[in-house]
Amino acid sequence: TQSPEYQELDASKLTFHRTTSPRPVPDEATAHAGSETICTDHMITATWKASTGWSAPELKPYGPLSLMPTASVLHYATECFEGMKVYRGHDGRLRLFRPDLNAARMLMSSLRISLPSFPPRELERLLHALLAIDGPRWLPRDRQGSFLYIRPTMIGTQPQLGVQAPSEAMLFIICTFMPRMDAPPGGMRLHTSPEDMVRAWVGGFGYAKVGANYGPSLAATAEARKRGYGQVLWLYGPEQLCTEAGASNFFVLWRSKEDPNRVELLTAPLDDRLILDGVTRRSVLGLARERLAGQLEVVERRYSIDEVTQAHAEGRLIESFAAGTAFFVCPVSHIHHRGSDIPISMGDTGKGGDFTLKLKGWMHDIMYGNEQHEWGVLI
Ligand code: PMP
Repeated sequence: TQSPEYQELDASKLTFHRTTSPRPVPDEATAHAGSETICTDHMITATWKASTGWSAPELKPYGPLSLMPTASVLHYATECFEGMKVYRGHDGRLRLFRPDLNAARMLMSSLRISLPSFPPRELERLLHALLAIDGPRWLPRDRQGSFLYIRPTMIGTQPQLGVQAPSEAMLFIICTFMPRMDAPPGGMRLHTSPEDMVRAWVGGFGYAKVGANYGPSLAATAEARKRGYGQVLWLYGPEQLCTEAGASNFFVLWRSKEDPNRVELLTAPLDDRLILDGVTRRSVLGLARERLAGQLEVVERRYSIDEVTQAHAEGRLIESFAAGTAFFVCPVSHIHHRGSDIPISMGDTGKGGDFTLKLKGWMHDIMYGNEQHEWGVLI
């Protein structure tokens, strides 16, 4: 129960403090050259207290946050975030892609990590406000086909070391440059996770976008990179179920064992709560069901790496890809598992299989306004 003076997050109360010294916008090559992420001129912040609720959100110059060393997030990982992009369309317009899904997922993650509730629609409104100001200058009209990456984040800020749900929190939204990662030459190379590690477990929080899921996964990724692979294919449990590939959802396309005439687009299910409900995943599955009906069947079920290995051995494995905001739709060319490599076709062009590229193309067209679609939301 909330006290009568409790304030909800309210984007209409946003205050504006514009920078007086706008920074130069780097060109796309130099934007990714350094080791520091380049952010746009402004950010939005809002603070929350359990007793009074949300402050009026502020749009202000991008810069450091001030936190006490005792802040909850620094000790107990009370943090969640989102990752989304704003696209400069081939028609010159700026668009978000299904931002309602990111806002709803942010709320789910926030509640999972004992951070406050908020109306997801207000977060969407704040995104629009930030992008209306920084979008036009940082993603100019002559950069059609490019994007900026947006990182809404919430942290527990209560300066108290008691192990408890924080009574103070901060929401911030920043907007950054991120390199294109969907087309590594030769495809994405996956290495299965170490035998003694899992990313997520039943009853855990792998389905939430909380920072606590990511830090502990970095060692496995670093080891895979040392061995010449780009990302980890996270397996789970004694059956070694395929779950996710790095920070993206994982898909295989194969002919079914039971009926070789049946082509299946297979991915892990949501109901085990082991994987993130990816916006890209949902969209790929939706488009496949709608536009590839008759050519393939979408299957969301548990499946093991042994099933993938067997499909390869029997010549039934057709394509594989990873899908997420960062990697977009990225063809997978190799999976390394316990000493052997499963090679996967990259199609006639070497740029990805036919179905992978078809799905990628449809998504691209919606994001960049070549196809008018309700998923593309204009700024
Ligand atoms: N799985 C994990 C663990 C992720 O971090 C992400 C990136 N948010 C995804 C999947 C893909 O989700 P989305 O398509 O919404 O970016």
